Amino acid sequence: MGGLMRIAVDGPSGAGKSTIAKAVAEKLGIDYVDTGAMYRAIGYKMKREGIEADDIGRLEKMLASTDIDFVKGDIILDGEVVSDKIRTPEMSEAASVCSALPQVREKLVDIQRDMGAKKSVIMDGRDIGNNVLKDAEHKFFLTASAEERAGRRYKELKARGEDVSFDQVLNDIQERDHRDSTRKLNPLRKAEDALEIDSTGLSIDEVTEMILKEIR
Ligand code: C5P
Repeated sequence: MGGLMRIAVDGPSGAGKSTIAKAVAEKLGIDYVDTGAMYRAIGYKMKREGIEADDIGRLEKMLASTDIDFVKGDIILDGEVVSDKIRTPEMSEAASVCSALPQVREKLVDIQRDMGAKKSVIMDGRDIGNNVLKDAEHKFFLTASAEERAGRRYKELKARGEDVSFDQVLNDIQERDHRDSTRKLNPLRKAEDALEIDSTGLSIDEVTEMILKEIR
């Protein structure tokens, strides 16, 4: 694997992973892979097709005929750009639910490992440093207080015209944290060799700089 650089970024919802990973990717001239978007895309397709989490037969069939890719920062599901459709509170919930299903994880982790085997990438998610890219050259674990993370998400959603309240967003984040860190399969956990960065009170630029400094 000479020459390839793989960077893993894990952490809970709203810790700033995607914004920071995108900025680092740009600085380093490597690809950014948003694994959360992949779980969101599957959650979206399950909802659209009315597939329940316990309907393993239909789920497996659907997964076998599902194609997920990134083109210029957009996520493409079966040839359709779904980047905007997956960024709603409903899809956050659907992603979190479907991410606990072994069939879904197996399929997406395969695709993610493939992406990391062919080119230098920075990949963000929940199980990248511990599972997907266990031998990544650099691993980071980004955190922030639940209130700060909810505040960021709230602003983001409001800016897009979503009708939400701060309490509702905080509540959703806490529920998702709980589900993501207590599930049996690849729960959210800091990898032993990951550098933990608490971004509470720090700006995007400050955290991006910390990461770039560590990599260099
Ligand atoms: O990062 P994002 O909030 O978009 O992720 C949506 C959901 O997908 C998370 O709440 C988590 O349940 C799931 N996920 C996961 N493993 C990853 C990335 C996301 O289980 N590597």
